[in-house]
Amino acid sequence: MLLTPGPTPVPEFVRVAMSDVTMHHRTPEFEKIFAETRSLLLEILDMPEAVMIASSGTGAMEACVTNLCHKKALTINSGKFGERFGKICDAFSIPFAEIKNEWNTPINVNEVLELIKNDSEIDAIFVQVCESAGGLRHPVEELAKEVKKLNKNITIIADGITAVGVEKVDTTNIDALITGSQKALMLPPGLSMIGFSNEAVLKINKKPKGYYLNLSVEIKKQKNNTTAYTAATTLIIGLKEILSHIKNNGGFDALYEKTALRAKATRSALEAISCKIYPKVSANAMTTIYTERSNEIRKILKNKYNVNIAGGQDHLKGNIFRINHMGLVEDYEATWVINAIELALDELDIRKFDGTASRVFSETMFKG
Ligand SMILES: *Cc1c(COP(=O)(O)O)cnc(C)c1O
Repeated sequence: MLLTPGPTPVPEFVRVAMSDVTMHHRTPEFEKIFAETRSLLLEILDMPEAVMIASSGTGAMEACVTNLCHKKALTINSGKFGERFGKICDAFSIPFAEIKNEWNTPINVNEVLELIKNDSEIDAIFVQVCESAGGLRHPVEELAKEVKKLNKNITIIADGITAVGVEKVDTTNIDALITGSQKALMLPPGLSMIGFSNEAVLKINKKPKGYYLNLSVEIKKQKNNTTAYTAATTLIIGLKEILSHIKNNGGFDALYEKTALRAKATRSALEAISCKIYPKVSANAMTTIYTERSNEIRKILKNKYNVNIAGGQDHLKGNIFRINHMGLVEDYEATWVINAIELALDELDIRKFDGTASRVFSETMFKG
């Protein structure tokens, strides 16, 4: 049972849809599929423009840094993925300021406002919606709103790789929203997507940059339902399949509600057996627990109960475990994982098993 916060399992109906013979990308047949996928993508992103790129999520992050920062960037580093925006700036010799927090700590909006008041060079802010390193939710919507009040020319780029498909991200003040195929969208890795505001498109077209990741060229092509280079046809077919499945089975809001409830039930259950939630504000994509016995717990889960969950990276290696809530997780899977954790705590003599986790999960998930 794969319950890591990315990659997530690919549903069977998506695998079947992607198993057909390879299509040529410059054909009316594929353009029709592309147009349908694009329209579903614009709907889930809730933005006026979008592109699909054949790259993992980091490719879209790089494209946003090189195309949407013309002077100086501000990056928010509360974990590995926030840190990555700074590394991309470095790789392209783009000047940047960084606000660095512990991995459980969301951005302080006032700190950002103070910083941009004192540094008029900053023209783009890069932040995660959910920082997957610790399962942290940043107040991105509030940050974007307050920054725009102060200076509407500052571009807000939000990495929503573990948020789009998990929850409704309010894009009113967001200029670029990044996502990727292998997390909440339940596809194999290799496709990234970016939604744009009209202002972002204007800024991109003002100073076209790059070759493969030239967003100006890509936007122009994709408006006409084609791509500058060979499209990731199979993954785009998969994306159309998963998005139309969600739309035709209760819709996006129903999926967000179910995910939120599963996240809440998981956290209540784990807190009831004395587990400590790591982030100060949890994102619904995953539940992160702080425990120095994470490796032992994960080992028991894997070997005895057939559950794969994720550990931590860098200084959190061996100190956290992360349970995925993204995608179409079955109720029996979510129930099983918290029960298995309670059994593992018993085996490690941390807490005696009495079925509390399973009871609290069920009460919250099914009887709340
Ligand atoms: C996984 C992830 C990425 C990077 O994606 P790759 O597909 O590995 O390049 C970026 N940001 C966040 C928040 C992620 O969870």
